[in-house]
Amino acid sequence: MPDRAVPGAESYDVVVAGGGPAGAAAALTLARAGRRVLLANAGTGPAKIGEALPSAARVLLHDLGAGERPVATGHTTCYSNLSSWGSTALGCVDFIRDPNGPGWHLDRRRFDQCLREAARTAGVQLAEGTAVRPKERHSDGRWVLALRGRGSERVVRCDWLVDASGRSRAIASPGGAGRRRTDRLLATCLELAPAPAVRAADTSSLVESTADGWWYTALLPSGRRLVAYFTDADLASPALLSRSGLWQLLRQTRYITDRADAHPLPADAVPRRAPAHSSHLDTPTGAGWIAVGDAATAFDPISSQGILTALYTGMAGASAVHAHLNGDDGALASYRSNVAALLAAYRRNHHAVYALERRWADRPFWQRRHTLLPHITRKESV
Ligand SMILES: Cc1cc2nc3c(=O)[nH]c(=O)nc-3n(C[C@H](O)[C@H](O)[C@H](O)COP(=O)(O)OP(=O)(O)OC[C@H]3O[C@@H](n4cnc5c(N)ncnc54)[C@H](O)[C@@H]3O)c2cc1C
Repeated sequence: MPDRAVPGAESYDVVVAGGGPAGAAAALTLARAGRRVLLANAGTGPAKIGEALPSAARVLLHDLGAGERPVATGHTTCYSNLSSWGSTALGCVDFIRDPNGPGWHLDRRRFDQCLREAARTAGVQLAEGTAVRPKERHSDGRWVLALRGRGSERVVRCDWLVDASGRSRAIASPGGAGRRRTDRLLATCLELAPAPAVRAADTSSLVESTADGWWYTALLPSGRRLVAYFTDADLASPALLSRSGLWQLLRQTRYITDRADAHPLPADAVPRRAPAHSSHLDTPTGAGWIAVGDAATAFDPISSQGILTALYTGMAGASAVHAHLNGDDGALASYRSNVAALLAAYRRNHHAVYALERRWADRPFWQRRHTLLPHITRKESV
């Protein structure tokens, strides 16, 4: 779509930076509203493995117009969440009574690709392997952007920018928005080889709290198993970056070790780290941009709300931009209130969940989560 003002430059109503669930949901919503949209996805950042999607996503996927397709094939069904949290007993939340049915252990690559494909079918221009970098914003409010990918760079223009770049906040941060974080949670993940025989109970996800953090395990759609240990960055010993170091700690668990036992530890397996702290922007909107998904507010994975929130804020943020471009002066303020309400609910739940574990109340990991007032946050260094 050439821009008359800049010969040769493409022009869009909205450019979405980031093709995760938030960006795809935003692009799809805007295209269905009749907007000209470019969705650029750099595809960089840590691989997302072993993530679970609660069944409430079914409703959001239908609202998006994507239907069941993103969850139809290539994922495994998650029938229950098991947890040893607050005591040595193993509790179970079974989805048998959930009106939306069971959830999923996702193949994230496939899920994200399917959502982007739904956006393309709705008329969105897709730029895979492409990073968006704002160059300037003209006095008429239009953005000039550099799109860099596959050894080339091109310039496009647009009226609005959606920051769906995840925790990197590639648009909002250079745009001057402050970032806040509540903690320093860090995930150390290891993938185990497929088990010779899969047990029926392996369709559950399992969480187990320990003295200095908590563990998560789930069977991946590939048959491999993810084990992940979550603790604060300053409490994470460098030994955990070695296979044997992480394995030794895992051996001290009661239930995780039992699940892991069925899976050989590959000789070339190397633990990977990923930031998993709670963080958010001071404001999810700015001059000509809006942030959705993790870019707006990133949650502790214990909440299992990250992808749901990304889909929801992607849709809500896109609807706000569409309404704003149509002259609705309150649309962006309403989105800001929406995100603030989400964040407040998340903080209450987060505090309540960590308060349930009292066995190691004198250990820094738990002390911080028990004594930290939910509204106290620190400015995040960029
Ligand atoms: C260890 C861990 C475990 C988790 N487990 C779960 C779970 O079980 N269930 C759950 O619901 N959530 C989970 N989450 C959270 C979940 O991963 C995120 O909430 C979710 O991915 C957010 O989606 P998003 O679209 O906002 O961002 P992302 O999925 O991070 O997508 C952002 C995309 O933007 C691209 N990008 C970045 N910069 C640019 C740029 N300048 N231009 C173009 N593209 C760009 C990136 O390459 C990426 O593809 C977990 C998170 C962590 C860290």
